[in-house]
Amino acid sequence: MPGRLAGRVVDLGGQWVAPDHTRLISLAREFGVEAYPQYVDGNNIYDLGGQRGTYKLNDTDLPATSLKAVQETVNKLTALATSAFTVTGDLGRHAAGLDGGTLESWLLANVFDRVAYSYFRLMVRATHSAETYETSLLAFVSLFAGENHFEHMTSVRGGAQDSVFDGGVWQLADRMAKELGTAVILGSPVRHILQDDQGVTVRSDQGDWRGRYVVVTAPPTMANRIQVTPPLSSQRDACAQRSPLGNVIKVHLAYSRPFWRDQGLSGQVLSDQTDFGPWFDHSPRKGGSGALVGFYNGATAHKWADRDPIERRMQCLQDVAKYFGTAALSPTDYIEEVWGRSAFHRGGYGTVSGPGVITTFHDALREPVGRIHWAGTETDADYSGYIEGAIRSGENAAAALRKLV
Ligand SMILES: Cc1cc2nc3c(=O)[nH]c(=O)nc-3n(C[C@H](O)[C@H](O)[C@H](O)COP(=O)(O)OP(=O)(O)OC[C@H]3O[C@@H](n4cnc5c(N)ncnc54)[C@H](O)[C@@H]3O)c2cc1C
Repeated sequence: MPGRLAGRVVDLGGQWVAPDHTRLISLAREFGVEAYPQYVDGNNIYDLGGQRGTYKLNDTDLPATSLKAVQETVNKLTALATSAFTVTGDLGRHAAGLDGGTLESWLLANVFDRVAYSYFRLMVRATHSAETYETSLLAFVSLFAGENHFEHMTSVRGGAQDSVFDGGVWQLADRMAKELGTAVILGSPVRHILQDDQGVTVRSDQGDWRGRYVVVTAPPTMANRIQVTPPLSSQRDACAQRSPLGNVIKVHLAYSRPFWRDQGLSGQVLSDQTDFGPWFDHSPRKGGSGALVGFYNGATAHKWADRDPIERRMQCLQDVAKYFGTAALSPTDYIEEVWGRSAFHRGGYGTVSGPGVITTFHDALREPVGRIHWAGTETDADYSGYIEGAIRSGENAAAALRKLV
């Protein structure tokens, strides 16, 4: 979804792409939208568990003892992943045990270095828009099975924050919609899906549509707000009831110049001492003006979503000024999207799996219910939570239906 910041169009939702997001990259090529690397020059700031310092690029230059504790924790999580998942990625013998607890309980029992503990809490908040007490240990451990997805998620170069699209990723959806023409109907929420032996009727605010099958791409918790007749299976409904979204407020700030670069800073800050953050440099490629992009994530998004926008903006500016100085208090423009207040999103970035959900309801996420098929990023095995997962899920749903019709 696009927004305007100081005369420039920016993404209010997803914006970054990783080198292995191959379907997204090829779509961008098809539509002539260029990707360019996230700005990384200079020092990043961290302020975690009472320790403040700087580091460069993907290195996490925490104090030596904390770095050792982070590495030891990664090793333990990797060992747990080996016991919880088979080599083919299926649930293993110890999966149910790990699915019974939260990541937070495990961190409290296993990580005794304050900075390392804060690091994992903050990284989960930044990457999932949720807290460590909301995610099951198994869900987190799955990121350490096979390739190290956690490192990928938290990295800039080569990772999930590698590059951004010139003019924004929203252009791809916009151009696809234009190609599809009248087949795309916007502003028409679906309220009811009825299925019978011959097909489905989709009842929306702009009328009814009849088809042999329907693919629902809304996240499970939003899909569950659509009435279904006859009612969905118990498994599917229970799965969706237990699949909440994280919560996020995305903020763009414009400045006359990227003044933090003069201080040798990259613009990237990771802090557990502020409500706003993390944030990154998102200055325009040309023209010399500056911009930052950042987030209120998880608990801080819940805390700030319903408050006075002026107060929210003041908090954000003060948090940025804490690390970049008083120049941060005078942006030339500011724009935000409060995803938890958006009527048909009600949160983001994606679905968070709490205790018991993966082992009890895993299949229900993808299993069709009669003529109702499910797509959306949550249903993709490898790129759930990313735009890449959404694209792949659409392709998977299309392939499944092609076999049926
Ligand atoms: C702030 C933010 C930052 C993010 N950053 C990144 C990033 O940098 N890189 C990345 O890859 N991913 C990022 N993501 C995640 C990415 O945006 C999602 O993974 C992706 O959009 C999921 O696509 P989807 O089609 O599965 O679901 P959605 O994009 O959520 O689309 C579902 C659609 O269903 C619609 N809908 C809901 N209910 C109904 C109804 N009853 N009737 C009709 N329509 C309905 C909604 O309006 C919505 O348009 C970010 C997300 C957010 C919120």
